Amino acid sequence: MKKLLKYSNWVILLLLIITVTLTGCNEPEIEEEPENIIDHISYTILEDIYQAEVHIFKSNIKGPKVAIVGGIHGDEVAGWKTAYDLLERDDFTGEVMIIPNANNLAVSLELRYPGAGNSGIYQGITYSDVNRVFPGKDDGTITEKIAKAIIDEIALFEPLYIIDLHESKGSYSEGQRWIGDELIYSNKKSALFVTEIVDQFNELYLGEEDVPFAADSNSPEGSFNNYCGNYFDAYVFTIETNRNLDLSKRIEQQKQIIDLFFNLIKD
Ligand SMILES: [Zn+2]
Repeated sequence: MKKLLKYSNWVILLLLIITVTLTGCNEPEIEEEPENIIDHISYTILEDIYQAEVHIFKSNIKGPKVAIVGGIHGDEVAGWKTAYDLLERDDFTGEVMIIPNANNLAVSLELRYPGAGNSGIYQGITYSDVNRVFPGKDDGTITEKIAKAIIDEIALFEPLYIIDLHESKGSYSEGQRWIGDELIYSNKKSALFVTEIVDQFNELYLGEEDVPFAADSNSPEGSFNNYCGNYFDAYVFTIETNRNLDLSKRIEQQKQIIDLFFNLIKD
């Protein structure tokens, strides 16, 4: 009797396997995703040597609004070069705004800000670090006007995600002064999100000699990250690569983080 029961159990199991296999074969075909058609518009803000590009990619495939800003600091080359490279992508969904050269004169001089190292004076005009004067002022210094013009674009666009591309002169692992190898956030909303990106990056892309990326919440007052994190209802983070690494490696890391970001918001 016992043996018979055992046999019948086997038969039931076999039948189950056959049923599952057959059902699997008959699965309806997965609907193909619609073709991604992207409308790219671009315009400029600010004038002359300060002129910055604004690019908006609008896809027919639904998705959140994302704003990516490069070139707030001109000497953080991997940040703005990555932003320019992103303009070539053809897989954005939702709406993506890219401002690759926010602080255009600083970018063209490859300086933190024009006049950096010369008391802020460049061609007779005094500048300061734009990343300490956000949200800026329409009737302020040229540095404050640049900040205001950038903030106005972001406010108008109303992104759910804001990414700010920077670099540091060293890795956090080399001492308190440096913030390289970090993602920085300013509001609680962004904390878990940034931690998830950092974890995935360290799991997927970290080489044996690389310093693991860390999530940090130390954005200074007047910085783009700090202002956006506190005054916009958005997820905001800054990528800080380490300038001691090769430029190609830093650009690669910036792009890997941005890829992870886009994958995460797809889910
Ligand atoms: Zn910076």
